[in-house]
Amino acid sequence: MEESLYSIRMHATCLGDHLSGAEALVSESELRAVAGDLVARALGHSRGKAQSIRISIDDLTGTEAKKGSLPDLVTVPVDDYREGRRAATQLLAGAGISDLAITRTLDALSQGAAPGHKAMRGAMLVNAASGERLEPDPARGVRVSRLGLDAATADALRCALRPLGLDNAHVREALLLAAKVLASGQVLAEICWSDDPDYTAGYVAIPRLGYVRFPHLKPLGDVRGGRAFFLPSGLHDSAALISFLQDTPWLAVRLGRLNPPISLEALRDLLDR
Ligand code: AMP
Repeated sequence: MEESLYSIRMHATCLGDHLSGAEALVSESELRAVAGDLVARALGHSRGKAQSIRISIDDLTGTEAKKGSLPDLVTVPVDDYREGRRAATQLLAGAGISDLAITRTLDALSQGAAPGHKAMRGAMLVNAASGERLEPDPARGVRVSRLGLDAATADALRCALRPLGLDNAHVREALLLAAKVLASGQVLAEICWSDDPDYTAGYVAIPRLGYVRFPHLKPLGDVRGGRAFFLPSGLHDSAALISFLQDTPWLAVRLGRLNPPISLEALRDLLDR
């Protein structure tokens, strides 16, 4: 019998503003449990309790999912968020992002990238040369959706992250999201830090090195987080990319290399090679 495939998405708001969102690709037998987990997450968010929770479920059975690998992962310890952002800037510059685009993006993320300095629901799309924002809706941004891991890869990922002390939902979900973004083949780099005030870590993902995680990319207690995808300045039509990120079912079926931490100096050496 054909295996069932469902997309499940949750979006929670509080006082009309975005509070929390999450998505997964699951089989029919997992739907009820995952829906319960998503409701619990919306009600227990560290930024407040949801006043409105929307769960959407779409039956994608019969739709072919694209398959790929998770990116390599490495952590680069930094003393504080300033050092983290300096290191992230070097990585982005090494991926061909202009100083102007980096500065504009980090400013937007640290001030709240949605209108009114609020948190965006999704990611900014940024022209890597000019820093111009390209997402059609600056409050919603582009939400990467319809992504998941097959059961064996999900188990293997947890086992491999555990000895690194990284087996938590933030890392697992962000690694998967970065995997789909890199799999588009059209994103030069991604930067993200969480809007969870208790979680200061963030990452830069680039095709060459994968997911490079910094324990500090924002100050503890800051509720402003966000994500940006940098696009080549020659990409004049981002509609196909947006459609891939939002609508194409994508499953991770292999792990990348999960490396032990490296120092900032070692990261600089890698970039110079
Ligand atoms: P989180 O790591 O879940 O705290 O999310 C940090 C920021 O990333 C959020 O404020 C959103 O702007 C963005 N974001 C979260 N989930 C997605 C997604 N599925 N696709 C694109 N951007 C997202």
